[in-house]
Amino acid sequence: MNVDQEEIRKFQSVAGSWWDPEGPLKTLHEINPVRLQYILDGTRGLQDLEILDVGTGAGILAESMARAGGHVLGIDLAEEAIGEARRHARETGVQAGYRVVDVESLAAECPGSFDVVTCMEMLEHVPDPASVVQSCARLLKPGGYAFFATLNRNPKSYLMAIIGAEYVLSLLPRGTHDYEKFIRPSELLEMTRESGLHMLDLKGMTYDPWKRRARITQDVSVNYLCRCQKVPAV
Ligand code: SAH
Repeated sequence: MNVDQEEIRKFQSVAGSWWDPEGPLKTLHEINPVRLQYILDGTRGLQDLEILDVGTGAGILAESMARAGGHVLGIDLAEEAIGEARRHARETGVQAGYRVVDVESLAAECPGSFDVVTCMEMLEHVPDPASVVQSCARLLKPGGYAFFATLNRNPKSYLMAIIGAEYVLSLLPRGTHDYEKFIRPSELLEMTRESGLHMLDLKGMTYDPWKRRARITQDVSVNYLCRCQKVPAV
């Protein structure tokens, strides 16, 4: 299976405080409004769309997409995070479904089922990100949209995302990210192309640790995100 158990263990260990806005995953809470808006702008709304969130964790993005009217399924291999996602959805009354399943198996089970597939801050944690991108593409209906967000790989992203975020500012637990697994936009572009996805848009997501807010920018040197469309069958 395309999974690094050490990565899963890291996320399991913080599952209990996933929804704490001041907890170890606080930056996910802080970037969520801007990435949700990016998705809403790129789809012209999510009302009644079938949506899959890959590497959903305890559902920060999944719940926000469900609140926006989407029918959301979140998948992850961290069982305790999925447990936390279900518990939180019960508490808040948000209608979102969750499963512990790998994206490759789900793609074999129900290809062509989703209008939108999101996979954010996850690709940099898997051994074979190209396989995840390909499975996301398979899961989309023709003409459907995929959204990916990850970290670029260069000296600046090493300084900002690892040294700055984990060691200087303690925004993230130490060891959250592994520089070697960061992905250049050109590499992601190649993965999407090979999967029959057309990248329509690529933007930077710049996080201001003092204002504790993110913005969408043209600067893709550290965090970035993109919108792709599954090439409709001809
Ligand atoms: N996408 C969520 C969570 C990001 S944290 C958000 O942005 O809010 C990264 C998530 O990827 C964790 O929940 C981790 O368990 C999950 N993950 C890592 N490797 C995975 C794999 N091979 N398959 C599915 N999920 C994985």
